[in-house]
Amino acid sequence: MGLALSKEGGRGVSHLGWTLGWSQGCSRPNLLPHSPLSTLKELREMIQLPGARPLLDPVDFLGLQDRIKEAPRPRKRLTELLLRTATEKPGVEEAARQALASRAWGLRFFRSPQQVLPSPDGQRAAGIRLAVTRLEGDGEATRAVPTGDTEDLPCGLVLSSVGYKSRPIDPSVPFDSKLGVIPHMEGRVVDVPGLYCSGWVKRGPTGVIATTMTDSFLTGQMLLQDLKAGRLPSGPRPGYVAIQALLSSRGVWPVSFSDWEKLDAEEVSRGQGAGKPREKLVDPQEMLQLLGR
Ligand SMILES: Cc1cc2nc3c(=O)[nH]c(=O)nc-3n(C[C@H](O)[C@H](O)[C@H](O)COP(=O)(O)OP(=O)(O)OC[C@H]3O[C@@H](n4cnc5c(N)ncnc54)[C@H](O)[C@@H]3O)c2cc1C
Repeated sequence: MGLALSKEGGRGVSHLGWTLGWSQGCSRPNLLPHSPLSTLKELREMIQLPGARPLLDPVDFLGLQDRIKEAPRPRKRLTELLLRTATEKPGVEEAARQALASRAWGLRFFRSPQQVLPSPDGQRAAGIRLAVTRLEGDGEATRAVPTGDTEDLPCGLVLSSVGYKSRPIDPSVPFDSKLGVIPHMEGRVVDVPGLYCSGWVKRGPTGVIATTMTDSFLTGQMLLQDLKAGRLPSGPRPGYVAIQALLSSRGVWPVSFSDWEKLDAEEVSRGQGAGKPREKLVDPQEMLQLLGR
């Protein structure tokens, strides 16, 4: 996902164009209008951003109403807000506000960045070339594939996002390196009974914390189902004591919750001096020093 800043031709309107997409070969359907892009609150704030108006192409939202019927509630509400913004005429007051707005921002879906286009002198960015994509497949197998068409978006600044990809944790845990996820059935890790996954390692880097939370509840439900059905190993387990002994045998000194509380108190106290809720400690060495290591 990236951000391209441009001015709309002749109208002096700054255009913040979010170009959602993936390079060719990587085709997670993260660039869809019904993928959670932000929290509902953030999207609402963007739509009502003072001095700015949203630009959304209604074509991107065709047939979306049906697709989101079964979606979890947070995702559904977010998508409905996008859909309304893209397809419904704003009320009189909002229309007047938008007419006066000197800036605009837009979300571009079904696009995959291909190339940054240089200015004639080759010194600056002049635009970004986007491959137009379409969806193929159903459900989890849905993929965005290039249609062969491209589109140039003029802009003066291109920011690329940091990206995110999970890595395998251990050879005993199956891992799909291409997608960066653990293969699973509703959170149950494939071929490893009693092991579960949730979050970005389960579904790839899509969604916000609320999405991850909902997803974890679903995995939790599977675990409880298995527990009730007697599919999990039972009997006393050594738990933390065994982990502590293992770490100690390897010379690892874990940071405990009370250690974290000490760091938290230190950050809060440093922040108070500067009139902030906290001053973040960012140096791990300093953190360890404060914990007496
Ligand atoms: C730049 C950025 C900004 C974001 N901003 C927002 C936002 O403003 N609001 C919002 O709601 N969401 C935001 N998100 C999304 C949010 O961060 C994710 O939805 C959420 O963190 C996913 O949770 P997770 O538990 O799956 O993964 P993570 O939060 O990445 O947690 C995985 C954990 O596993 C640990 N780990 C990895 N390997 C090992 C190992 N081998 N052994 C032990 N531990 C290991 C990692 O250190 C990490 O702590 C943002 C994401 C990014 C990348």
